[in-house]
Amino acid sequence: MRITRISVYQVDLPLHEGSYKWSGGKSVDVFDSTVVRIETDAGVAGHGEVCPLGPFYLPSYAAGARTGIAELAPDLIGEDPTHIRKLVRRMDALLQGHPYVKSAIDIACWDILGQVSGVPVCVLLGGRYADDFVLYRAISQETPEQMAAKVAGYRSEGYRRFQLKVGGDADVDIARIHAVAAELQDGDRLVADANTGWLMHDAMRVVKAVRDLDVYIEQPCATYDECLSVRRNTNHPFVLDESIDGVSVLMKGFSDGAMDVVNIKISKFGGLTKAAQARDLCASLGIAMTIEDSWGGDITTAAISHLAHSTPTELLFTSTDFNSYVTTSIADGAPQRNNGRLAASTEPGLGVAPRFDVLGEPVAVYQ
Ligand code: MG
Repeated sequence: MRITRISVYQVDLPLHEGSYKWSGGKSVDVFDSTVVRIETDAGVAGHGEVCPLGPFYLPSYAAGARTGIAELAPDLIGEDPTHIRKLVRRMDALLQGHPYVKSAIDIACWDILGQVSGVPVCVLLGGRYADDFVLYRAISQETPEQMAAKVAGYRSEGYRRFQLKVGGDADVDIARIHAVAAELQDGDRLVADANTGWLMHDAMRVVKAVRDLDVYIEQPCATYDECLSVRRNTNHPFVLDESIDGVSVLMKGFSDGAMDVVNIKISKFGGLTKAAQARDLCASLGIAMTIEDSWGGDITTAAISHLAHSTPTELLFTSTDFNSYVTTSIADGAPQRNNGRLAASTEPGLGVAPRFDVLGEPVAVYQ
């Protein structure tokens, strides 16, 4: 099988809440997402999506995804999309770094391999665990009272895991964590995600002030070493996200005892191939995971669902259903949240059919 055409689509994804706010005053109103369609000489087509969390979260930005694909795609015409690890090595040889650029292409190849194999991608990634898996809800940064009210509202929709966006003024963040913790019920889990927003002294004040609360601390500071310093001075369960962007730092984190949970975002690692490699390594090492992506719509949510659903249940701390955050549906067949949980499609491949009436004409075609 050979790749005959790669088409790229751009789509805007507005938010039900109007905006999404996190550390350092960062905010996005409309997400700029990129969908890739890979066609083959066998008549099978696969799809992938990549959507950075604005240009200031990871070293990635929406137009950069499309520019990077323009760099790669002409050289991928004629490659076999079902030889995925070989194709990933080819992409790495063509373009140093820029993992997010490769993510949608990699996902589309898994979609093709699943379709030609007649099985869902989660089966290719190791097998389906249980009927469904648990989601968290991200609570955009607002006042302590507004965030506590959001948690109560989202719990009534079935969510039981909540990730507070903190990483602002330490005193306000302490109030945010206390206000939300007061709303929690038995079985709820609370994560305070600073998204690199605190200096070490801020982080130490916060963890001391919430010492008696049952709360996970996620990525308090900008660098791995700063986070490790905080980690060594607190007894809260500890999550690393932004600092863990590949296997070598993951191994270092394990050997340093730097975290209890790792956040694996598909595009941060460069696609399902490398995210699954990190997932399998974490599973072997006993490190629990949040499995998700930076952002996205229906196709990203489908890709997440296959990686999450093929992760051993006890090792999957939580996952995300971005398609319920955004107002625009870009594909039929994507998984839909039910009582705070999600399940991967049982159809071959990703199980999604893009809505080309929504995506419009491609912004670029390579053939
Ligand atoms: Mg995070």
